[in-house]
Amino acid sequence: MIDYDLHIHSNFSDGKLTPRQIFEIVKGIGLTGFSITDHDTIGAIDECLFLVNEYNIDFIPGIELSTDYNGFEVHLLGYFIDHKNKFLSEFLKKFKNARLTRAQEIINILKNMNYDISLEEVIVEAGNNYDSIGRPHIARLLVKKGYYKEIQEVFKILLNKNRPAYVERYKISLLDAIELINVVKGIPVLAHPLGLDGMCRNSEFEQFLKTLTLNGLKGVEVYHPMHSLEDEKYLKVLAEKYGLVVTGGSDCHGNIKDNKYQIGEKGICMKEINCLRGLTR
Ligand code: AMP
Ligand code: FE
Ligand code: FE
Ligand code: ZN
Repeated sequence: MIDYDLHIHSNFSDGKLTPRQIFEIVKGIGLTGFSITDHDTIGAIDECLFLVNEYNIDFIPGIELSTDYNGFEVHLLGYFIDHKNKFLSEFLKKFKNARLTRAQEIINILKNMNYDISLEEVIVEAGNNYDSIGRPHIARLLVKKGYYKEIQEVFKILLNKNRPAYVERYKISLLDAIELINVVKGIPVLAHPLGLDGMCRNSEFEQFLKTLTLNGLKGVEVYHPMHSLEDEKYLKVLAEKYGLVVTGGSDCHGNIKDNKYQIGEKGICMKEINCLRGLTR
């Protein structure tokens, strides 16, 4: 039984749905609550806290930080964060500016490759996402302009790592990110760990998880579309062993699959949400 979907992206990062649309869908499928975990931004949280009463749905403020661990991109979720914390806003401002600079660099490369595209157009495409401009917005624009049929194709040909228009983005180190989430009274949770490049069920992974736990990690995302049943079982055992809470969610970006949104496809039950809530201070 899934009561909470704790991994949803709104149109404040690279999701397509507005906070209100997400509330509507969550209500429609009968979940008790959910969290929005936008990439590097808390832009949707105030609006969601406002919508809570109207929809009578529980909402948990969240975020998904892109971090670096020895050259690998690792995503860290933060739940129950104090989104008004000044220290956090300062950090997020850094992300936002770095994303803008990097978008401009990508656009310069594309211009040199004779694509007709400007930062202004990308900003318009991003709309609400202004705080978290990324490759998806550039990809969408190139599709709209008729250069490609679909977003995946743009990534494959231009934007993926090792493709000509790929530019690294500023990331904080994973350990600093764990500390940041703890400082702002949030609960740091390792996102989709077995969906990360180079990660699999082996002793190296266990050592990695152990190191993070010693550095303040509190939970691990067990239920995620990128994880197999074996992955789930394996992660649950490790969570128990290292005293980590278990979370899960659909990672919905607002795309339609099998005629429906992914929201609620993965998530956790009341018992698990109570464990997570139990860690709040
Ligand atoms: P960025 O934050 O600018 O590095 O872009 C990363 C985002 O792009 C991810 O969160 C995904 O939502 C999206 N993304 C990454 N790879 C692909 C892909 N191959 N096809 C479509 N979207 C992708
Ligand atoms: Fe995303
Ligand atoms: Fe992620
Ligand atoms: Zn995500």
